[in-house]
Amino acid sequence: MRVVVVGAGATGLGIAWDLSLRGIKVTVVEQGDIAQGTSGRFHGLLHSGARYAVRDPKAARECFEENKILRKIAVGSIEPTGGYFVEPEASNSDYSQQWVQAMNRLGITMREASLGEIRLRVPELHPKIQRAYWVPDGVINGFELLFRMRQGIEMQGGTVRLFTRLSGVKVGPLGRVEGVAVQSRQGGTEWIACDGLINAAGPYASEVAKLFSHPFPMRLSRGVMLVFAERKVSSVINRLAPPGDGDILVPHHRISIWGTSDEETRSPEAGPPSIEESRRLLSLARDLFPEMHQWRVLRAFSGVRPLYQAETSSDSRHVTRDFTILDHAQMGGPEGVVSVVGGKWVTYRLMAEKAVDAMVAKLGITAACKTEDVLLPPLGESRLEPRRDRVNLCECEEVSGEEVAAWPEASLGQLRTRTWFSMGPCQGTFCLHRVAETRLADGDVKRLDSEVMSLRRERDRGMAAALWGDNARQWALSRSIRSQVLAEVESE
Ligand SMILES: Cc1cc2nc3c(=O)[nH]c(=O)nc-3n(C[C@H](O)[C@H](O)[C@H](O)COP(=O)(O)OP(=O)(O)OC[C@H]3O[C@@H](n4cnc5c(N)ncnc54)[C@H](O)[C@@H]3O)c2cc1C
Repeated sequence: MRVVVVGAGATGLGIAWDLSLRGIKVTVVEQGDIAQGTSGRFHGLLHSGARYAVRDPKAARECFEENKILRKIAVGSIEPTGGYFVEPEASNSDYSQQWVQAMNRLGITMREASLGEIRLRVPELHPKIQRAYWVPDGVINGFELLFRMRQGIEMQGGTVRLFTRLSGVKVGPLGRVEGVAVQSRQGGTEWIACDGLINAAGPYASEVAKLFSHPFPMRLSRGVMLVFAERKVSSVINRLAPPGDGDILVPHHRISIWGTSDEETRSPEAGPPSIEESRRLLSLARDLFPEMHQWRVLRAFSGVRPLYQAETSSDSRHVTRDFTILDHAQMGGPEGVVSVVGGKWVTYRLMAEKAVDAMVAKLGITAACKTEDVLLPPLGESRLEPRRDRVNLCECEEVSGEEVAAWPEASLGQLRTRTWFSMGPCQGTFCLHRVAETRLADGDVKRLDSEVMSLRRERDRGMAAALWGDNARQWALSRSIRSQVLAEVESE
């Protein structure tokens, strides 16, 4: 029995890991690289469920339960920072009462924090915060977790094929899926035989469904995030108000991410944010972090939420963060094909469990889910460990030569997500050349040059979306070092 999974985001890899642990052979096909989709372009919050307690209680409860499971199975890739919900001055206190009642009803852990505690723990907060509650939020190191899942799948005999796009589906005479057509970067079409197909293509899921069935209703919602050069807080800070734009600050390793926004889009591609979008996001922080406009911003980026929308609603904040499993045989499509839509990063494991339950029922197999108890295999050293006592190629993110050497096949762009190099304050100004030098032994200087420039362009795009204050000065300095000292040809 072989099942093909489309998409190597959190959902697709979670599904493949679950299938592997149930003893089913799996092939994942991913049109780009790991973390290329929304799973590499998110806020990084391990939700406690508190954000959705009032409006979306089912999703809230799922987040709470999955939060506990991820802390157990993904130790090292989850930072248990805790989080606070804080009520700014002049907020609607009715909402905070509803929220406390909903939290109690759902049984989500929380406690009221004194104003003294919150001022001590988060001195950057507005002095007129009226109330604060502690919740078990945390931080997900998404890149690391994705690579751990891939490693686990391969250790179980599964295959993850990157830069391989699903382009067709073969249905047998009895209306059952028999195989898929895929196209690799080199071109040409190849057929892979399979007994089942799971579509976990995130924002592309409805497009992918057109290859074998009717598209289904999705609401694609684009969110913008701002990255600050420092770890400004040590816990997640959420605004205690109905979910809206600009209301969460998440600490990540050495940096902090502020977000996000929510705008309907037709395109599954996120695209770089505009300066206006970044500035608007920053302006929303005034009643929480009055000094945020003076913090050094590094860059801005965006992602697209793949929400499932059964009913029309004018505002995607009202579209559920819960997920849906669609059986295409019941929608006039082939037998043996299932799509998974919606959900959150934090609920990827549960989504995978339900999707695989649906698939094994179709395959006529009994095999129970094991992902709740089996720990994900570690990749090596966790980023949460202190790393100061060694020579690093990337000083900002403390990435050593050994870490770089551990990924001999990766391009410079791929090394970024695998090691975090070039992600810190210098945005690769210095470390890009140091890391590139370690690849010179391969001898293909032309290819290496093109990788250097391609990573530069990618970093520059994010910086250009937040070009003001110290970031603008840093960018100008970086460009002159690159052209005058490092003799680089200017990127756009
Ligand atoms: C701005 C923003 C902030 C967020 N913040 C949080 C947060 O803090 N916490 C949280 O829990 N969740 C958060 N989320 C939600 C979470 O990131 C997503 O729910 C999750 O990442 C979706 O994962 P996925 O695997 O379903 O999709 P993706 O990660 O997009 O994966 C789908 C993959 O399918 C591939 N694909 C598409 N078509 C094909 C094809 N034809 N052939 C092969 N491959 C294909 C794509 O390349 C892609 O890699 C956020 C989302 C956004 C947009």
